[in-house]
Amino acid sequence: ESGLTINHAKKTFTSAEGKEVHAIDDVSLAIHKGEFFILLGPSGCGKTTLLRSIAGLESLDAGEIYLGDQRIDPLPPYERPVNTVFQSYALFPHMTVAQNVAFGLEMEKKPKDEIAKTVQEMLDLVHLGEFGGRKPHQMSGGQQQRVALARSLAKRPKVLLLDESLSALDFKLRRQMQVELKRIQRETGITFIFVTHDQEEALSMGDRIAVFSKGRPEQVGTPEQIYNEPANRFVADFIGDINFLDAVKSGDGVITVEGVPFHVKQDISNLSDGAEICAAVRPERIELAAPDDTALQGTVETVVFMGADVRCHVRLADGTLLLVRISPPFDTSVLYQGATVSVHVEAAHMRVVER
Ligand code: ADP
Ligand code: MG
Repeated sequence: ESGLTINHAKKTFTSAEGKEVHAIDDVSLAIHKGEFFILLGPSGCGKTTLLRSIAGLESLDAGEIYLGDQRIDPLPPYERPVNTVFQSYALFPHMTVAQNVAFGLEMEKKPKDEIAKTVQEMLDLVHLGEFGGRKPHQMSGGQQQRVALARSLAKRPKVLLLDESLSALDFKLRRQMQVELKRIQRETGITFIFVTHDQEEALSMGDRIAVFSKGRPEQVGTPEQIYNEPANRFVADFIGDINFLDAVKSGDGVITVEGVPFHVKQDISNLSDGAEICAAVRPERIELAAPDDTALQGTVETVVFMGADVRCHVRLADGTLLLVRISPPFDTSVLYQGATVSVHVEAAHMRVVER
């Protein structure tokens, strides 16, 4: 048994103004069995349409979807071994928590004792073992979310689809549920496909992330790959804070920023000499030191104490404003407004992207 494979999926909508919208624009993805897989991207990039296509709530214009070797895209939704948790929990208000969880199993006419056993297992799994007799309105938002999750898991889907499932929760509860969801996914071994527009949520939860823009994945990789080795400018910009320094390719594996050469780790052999590109650098990968004429030079413009770190802005000679994050111990001989500093960046931490 293996994962979920999407081959050249396409879906086009016609907007109210008669314009064609390529909601899914030739998407191919291989999601592994038992993986916590994240679809990440800005609003309107096609995440929900892709999820609904996997569930069978939307039919593709072209392409195929396989679960293992079984082609599932021609099947109606109820015949797909897939279940969805929506943002609104949609619990039945007149039923108890246990009845809500049992609902899908009763539709399938499963034996009563088997249903009771599964319901208790699912409620225990989401840490609501004692709450089966309550009504949804007697539960908090976070608890209702967990009931919805238990209900979706009760039918033991091979794949669980979650569309912005935590976005209705307040910040603290959301953090707790992120940890809970990870645990539940690990314990059940079910493949989770989780949609979010929140990059922190994606980085902290995903085994792998597909970063989407305009109906296409721009990069698929582990959180570390996405954060440290963004494939292009869109991904670099969308995930975390980053600086873009104008640079020029000046030799084999070498780029020059304001006259200072850097031997980058990345393979840039596809670029010709003189190519105008950008070096993308994370704020925590920059160090400031006393002026030194072999490094980039700058002037500290702002210094903001953030508790765990200091964020400052440094203006380079060419006018570029850099965001820099400094961790303790703080070197107060360079960390003050107006200081002239050298700006040190390790070439290994530069990513070459388009300008
Ligand atoms: P996301 O979930 O990433 O925010 P969606 O999948 O909801 O994105 O939408 C992708 C694009 O498809 C958007 O431009 C949206 O307006 C359009 N779209 C989605 N559903 C429909 C529909 N039923 N009719 C027309 N356009 C749609
Ligand atoms: Mg959506």
